[in-house]
Amino acid sequence: MNRSAAASAICLLWIAGGMAQTRIAPPPNNYSAAQDVELGQQAAAEARRTLPVMPDEEIAAYIQSVGRRLVDVIPPDLRHPEFRYTFEVVNVREINAFALPGGPMFVNRGMIEAAHTEGEVAGVMAHELSHVILRHGTAQASKATKYEIGQIAGAVLGSIIGGGWGQVISQGTQFGLGAAFLRFSREFERDADLEGSHLMASAGYDPRDMANMFKTIEKQGGPGGPQWLSDHPNPGDRYTYINAESQQLRVADPIRDTRAFQQAQAYLKRLPRAPTTEEATKNAGRPAGTSGRRAPVPGRVEAPSSSYRSYTEGNLFRVSVPENWQEIQSNSSVTFAPDGAYGTSGNQTTFTHGIEFGIGRNESHDLQSATDELIQSLAQGNPDLTRTSSVDRISIANRRALRTLLRNRSDASDRGEIIELATMQMRNGNLFYAIAVAPDSQFSSYRGVFDRILSSVQLLE
Ligand SMILES: [Zn+2]
Repeated sequence: MNRSAAASAICLLWIAGGMAQTRIAPPPNNYSAAQDVELGQQAAAEARRTLPVMPDEEIAAYIQSVGRRLVDVIPPDLRHPEFRYTFEVVNVREINAFALPGGPMFVNRGMIEAAHTEGEVAGVMAHELSHVILRHGTAQASKATKYEIGQIAGAVLGSIIGGGWGQVISQGTQFGLGAAFLRFSREFERDADLEGSHLMASAGYDPRDMANMFKTIEKQGGPGGPQWLSDHPNPGDRYTYINAESQQLRVADPIRDTRAFQQAQAYLKRLPRAPTTEEATKNAGRPAGTSGRRAPVPGRVEAPSSSYRSYTEGNLFRVSVPENWQEIQSNSSVTFAPDGAYGTSGNQTTFTHGIEFGIGRNESHDLQSATDELIQSLAQGNPDLTRTSSVDRISIANRRALRTLLRNRSDASDRGEIIELATMQMRNGNLFYAIAVAPDSQFSSYRGVFDRILSSVQLLE
């Protein structure tokens, strides 16, 4: 089995000379502005290590010029002298952008390619910049008071690249821990839309272009819909209030299309098509040169010990496993296997005997379809994987679960193996899974061990 890891804001209506512009105030926040900078810089460094930031001068300079234009008009009461605003383009296809506390902003190449005008690019950036200057990331994190700052920073990247415990944790807690910096409440969204429209107008753009870009993003398909919209949920009447606000913001002769925008788009068109984020981050964290190489598995395997030890994964789950099984952590799962039955290479773990536990992000599917999706993803690293007709309804931790048996050819031994996959849904809909593996010839003797392990599972959600 090869496994690769892939406060409410105060809104005051302010009437002056017949103009009514909604005034937006930052929400309560337990962090200092200096902490915003520190957390944002940590997460940005991680993002730069993992995501393909475009070094191309033409594109870098362009996005910086649009960003600078917006930064220059930040209202005095929302200026934070310690903030450092940076603007970088990520060479991936999805229409997305994110900004981190204290100023770092990353705009996907797909966003620039999808925009119809510079005003639309500026619209998303003005919205993102508003979250930064209103300090929404740490305001959101302030709600998750029981967690340490370091944990929050560490969990950010998982939610950016769409995998790992960070994402799981962010999905698994009430407070949106991991995605605290990136996933906002509808209330914060509305504030960022309105503040963003003010920045747009002050910088000489038509604020309605922000609403236009949101519509472009909405049209983007793909599984689960655009990431940007799940991080920035539509409060419901987004277009109505942005357009209403725009009428209060007079912009004479707004900047829409520019020559620089056209040149940037033309430049991107000449490049090879951008990869998806998943393709671009597949090998992230793996040592250079090991990409695609199978992890070596030595061979001699001791029988499972009859005494068990308990293992707890954060606030997610607890399980008991044979004492002589080692634990092998990857960024989104944990595998227990005896010596001689596993090998690791970068982020990839191969095991011939043992069990892996993980939690997969799942928002809207039922247990059967979530299980089918997981099997499809397993098949990507295991081309010989096939289903058997054996699918049982079982119960794990007193919940409804599915047990599916699969056949595979082990990459390590080149012999047949059987995989017992157990899946169940967590309260938030995410998929909790266990992948138990043993060679064909030994499966019947390992089955009792797998049963005992599964019966020990406790969810801590
Ligand atoms: Zn937002």
